[in-house]
Amino acid sequence: MNIILLAPPAAGKGTEAQILTHEYSIPQISTGDLLRSATKKEDALSKEIKSIMEQGKLVSDEIIIELIKNRINEDDCKNGYILDGFPRTIKQAEKYDEMLAEIDNKIDYVFAIDIDKSIASSRITGRRTCPNCNRIYNVNSDNLKPKNKNLCDDCKIELKHRKDDNAETYEKRYNAYLEETAPLIDYYDKKKILYHIDGNINKDNTHKQIKEIID
Ligand code: ADP
Repeated sequence: MNIILLAPPAAGKGTEAQILTHEYSIPQISTGDLLRSATKKEDALSKEIKSIMEQGKLVSDEIIIELIKNRINEDDCKNGYILDGFPRTIKQAEKYDEMLAEIDNKIDYVFAIDIDKSIASSRITGRRTCPNCNRIYNVNSDNLKPKNKNLCDDCKIELKHRKDDNAETYEKRYNAYLEETAPLIDYYDKKKILYHIDGNINKDNTHKQIKEIID
């Protein structure tokens, strides 16, 4: 199963990807997480990526395509995977089509999670992530907050608040989504693999809609 989750920042892509991973036993590939791991090094490229992300801009297509190419060729991707945060530009989508054609594979579902900007932006301030397992929490939401204040339920270590999760950077990320990523909705709609999902309610409701389509 080859799934793409397409949505503005903080619409629930990462949360839904984590649920699908457990349910269908296929890995989640989050370009955001892959990039955040890459920025832990001290070299010039890592510093450049970190600065781009903190400004709410998109990292270059070349870097992202290389990252994805390596990741989807790993063993655990043989039965499929969930893409969370890729593709984010038409160029990435075209390159990804080429990559899949080379290995005689195809995309099964593209879920576009629609959400009002004001709702997504209000979720941003409460988002927290475990630096070890990348599990996503939201301290402002009853069904997404950690059991112990600011500790990961599983790893028992302190949750992190992403530097780019603030109102000002959110505005830039949202604009980057509108300009660069939203055109992909039309791109995949034309291929008849796009499904619209209402992401305004909560994580269970988003998942219910997606599961109904897959099953
Ligand atoms: P969100 O979906 O909430 O915006 P992500 O963790 O997916 O958060 O992405 C964080 C940042 O990583 C983006 O703002 C961007 O700078 C970078 N990034 C992630 N995926 C891509 C991509 N496919 N192309 C370009 N930049 C990306």
